[in-house]
Amino acid sequence: MTGKAPGHPEIARIVAPNPGPMTLEGTNTYLYGSQPCVVIDPGPDDAGHLDAVRAASEERGGLGLVLLTHSHGDHADGAERLGAEVVLPAGGDEHGGLRALATPGHAADHVCFLTGDGVCFSGDLVLGEGSTFVPPDGGSLAAYMDSLRLLQAEPIELICPGHGPWVTDPAAKLAEYVEHREMRERRLLAALERGERSKPALLAEAWSDVPEQLRPAAALVMDAHLAKLESEGRAPADLRD
Ligand SMILES: [Zn+2]
Repeated sequence: MTGKAPGHPEIARIVAPNPGPMTLEGTNTYLYGSQPCVVIDPGPDDAGHLDAVRAASEERGGLGLVLLTHSHGDHADGAERLGAEVVLPAGGDEHGGLRALATPGHAADHVCFLTGDGVCFSGDLVLGEGSTFVPPDGGSLAAYMDSLRLLQAEPIELICPGHGPWVTDPAAKLAEYVEHREMRERRLLAALERGERSKPALLAEAWSDVPEQLRPAAALVMDAHLAKLESEGRAPADLRD
């Protein structure tokens, strides 16, 4: 599946096949610029997908550079096969007309890429639909929240996410992301302040709207919230499993 960004025909998207059950939609691979073009997040090591990316690059005068938003396999595993230089930059670096913004949280090495005209390639910081995930290994909710606020300060009119559809109202989406996580934290803190110390009871209360079969995933999200509160000195020491 291929498409052009709304209002930005210089940006194309090719959707990689779904690599696994955790990813509702396959990774979005983006092509930016021409003569040569830049590929952002080539996706998994899938021959058919990489062939499509190569063909689209040829139509743009060749592939000059592959940029990664972070090192997770569903974004990065196909990179070496494209035969161009692969870069996962540090914040502040400029490559191929794009500025990297350090946005740790989903992964410690996560960056977003900004064009000079209001487009953000957001990787897994912001998704086209649903909620992104702060994994227990290498993720940090405190860093993630700081990264959302950093992006809120940038003049962005379009987000090209790592998964899911274009985000044409970035300010609303970012506000929704921040508010959703602040709501969870408020509910968690309210239960803790009342004296609740059992983690299953905290989960059932603060995530009461989440269906039973999704509670194991919610438990990981709660762990990320508790780690954030602990890093801020706001988590009690006597929590029970
Ligand atoms: Zn990821």
